[in-house]
Amino acid sequence: MTGQKEPAAVRAWEQNIRRVTPYVPGEQPQGGRLIKLNTNENPYPPAPGVAEALRKLDAGMLRKYPDPAASALVKALAEAYGLASEQIFVGVGSDDVLGMAFLTFFNSERPVLFPDVTYSFYPVWAELFGIPYETCPLDAAFAIDPRDYDRENGGVVFPNPNAPTGCFLPLRQVEDILRHNRDVVVIVDEAYIDFGGESARSLLDRYENLLVVQTFSKSRSMAGMRIGYAFGSPELIKAMQDVKYSYNSYTMSLPAVLAGEAAVRDQEYFKETVGKITATRENAKKRLAAMGFTFPDSMANFLFIRHRTVPAKELYEALRAGRIYVRYFTGPRVCDYLRVTVGTDEEMEELYRFLEEYLAARD
Ligand code: PMP
Repeated sequence: MTGQKEPAAVRAWEQNIRRVTPYVPGEQPQGGRLIKLNTNENPYPPAPGVAEALRKLDAGMLRKYPDPAASALVKALAEAYGLASEQIFVGVGSDDVLGMAFLTFFNSERPVLFPDVTYSFYPVWAELFGIPYETCPLDAAFAIDPRDYDRENGGVVFPNPNAPTGCFLPLRQVEDILRHNRDVVVIVDEAYIDFGGESARSLLDRYENLLVVQTFSKSRSMAGMRIGYAFGSPELIKAMQDVKYSYNSYTMSLPAVLAGEAAVRDQEYFKETVGKITATRENAKKRLAAMGFTFPDSMANFLFIRHRTVPAKELYEALRAGRIYVRYFTGPRVCDYLRVTVGTDEEMEELYRFLEEYLAARD
């Protein structure tokens, strides 16, 4: 009897499948004219040297395995940030780096702590790796209260600025969390730090249990290349490398290493691009406030906005029908908001025009 399914009871293998509820990435709509402000990508191209590095790449070079240590990229990062190569770990986007960090450092019976409103990948990794966790509620203004992290735990992780709120926790408060958590690893996820925040990198000398994670996806316009990195004490970095080499030696492709190195070497272009985005963001704050939107003050390349009268879901759907994509999250508290990535000035003007017309027509 070919083609017929065995009865359900016989399929014992099903019981041994690892079942998880996956992270849901933002939509990547294809084709047509659209404005994409939904996944915090950078609207500007990567540094010119990146295209040049890729042009120089000969297909024959792909024959060999890449350098498992991605040394050229690590060296460029070490020079750019004034650190030793032993203090740097690189991976396939900061998601890969964060996943490795969870697997390496969060290995206790005690719960790992992170905010209740935060990057929704944290609980997914915790579930996948069987790590107990507890969330600490943000206050009414979406701020992290460092005192919430002053209790027994198996590790701490939070983004700074936080996502999807954009709120930046001043460095002295980050240090406050570190001061009260000397016996566990504290991960500061700085995916959005370059848009105006102050990195916890300066605290590395004093806290050997601190891991700072950053990415090429936002400020360096290279989400498609998948490069992330972490700064930490040589002990932390070595521990992460041991886990990585126990899982996949060749995480960084040759194109990623070469393109990443070229991007890091062009600090001037980096500063210019980040400057343009922060200027557009500050203007967006004024324009959106004038339309009746409120938002926590963002230090990231996105704004977490809510309208005085119109529900977020309605606006999300209207914008989508108008081919303007922003991010809408279901879930308590966040469902009242839209997360809008800062695009070019032209893209933002189209957003304002759409919203102004929509809100006027609805009155
Ligand atoms: N951390 C935070 C807070 C993010 O919002 C993102 C983007 N989804 C990441 C990490 C991962 O970004 P990437 O893997 O592209 O570096």
